[in-house]
Amino acid sequence: MQPFEILLESSAKAHGHLCPGQIVGVRMAMLGCRLIGLSEPTRRDQIKKLIVYVEMDRCTADAVAHVTGVKLGRRSLKFVDYGIMAATFFNLETGKAFRIISTEEARDLAAVYAPEIAEKGSRQLAAYKRMPDSVLFRVQKVHVNIDECDLPGPTRRKIVCSVCGQMIRDKRESMIDDRPVCRPCSGACYFTHAREVSWPDMNWSPGEQTPANRTNRDGDAGNRRFAIQ
Ligand SMILES: [Zn+2]
Ligand SMILES: [Zn+2]
Repeated sequence: MQPFEILLESSAKAHGHLCPGQIVGVRMAMLGCRLIGLSEPTRRDQIKKLIVYVEMDRCTADAVAHVTGVKLGRRSLKFVDYGIMAATFFNLETGKAFRIISTEEARDLAAVYAPEIAEKGSRQLAAYKRMPDSVLFRVQKVHVNIDECDLPGPTRRKIVCSVCGQMIRDKRESMIDDRPVCRPCSGACYFTHAREVSWPDMNWSPGEQTPANRTNRDGDAGNRRFAIQ
């Protein structure tokens, strides 16, 4: 793995800014990988061994994903919405897993570790770099029970929703009266009031240069033409 400062720089760049979450996340990722015996998690031979569960959708999560190379699209990054500043690093090959939790005390100890810096933000950044892992984190050894349908690789199971006909992948269906139903159709989902829409230029595609497309791309996109019916 690259040195801390290099990882921090690239992580902050990818994330958009340097913040305390980048420092905590980079350190969390370095520690997590070390604990489960992966020295180069983004390298071809190790990338398939790692699964990371992040428990918050905050700055730290970006840093953890950046350093470890885990991705939603690869199914190696799992977001579990607990609102806790923690991440679990799971080695699929060995079954070893460690959950690393960012301590609340670290926040209050910034003045102890960087007393010479008056400005609060800069002091926090400096202190988080200096604090030992033992102050910044609590670490738990855990067992991760991963369902076969959550593993990377090809889709294990596909089933059609008995209400809307949409394909449901990887066992995300509910069974209602012995029939498979997708989350939106079962009502247990994050949106409401779904209504199918279309608009005059809906047949547009980036791949074909039809006269209609050219008008759209080059000229006035025309709010009216995109107006949803
Ligand atoms: Zn941030
Ligand atoms: Zn459905």
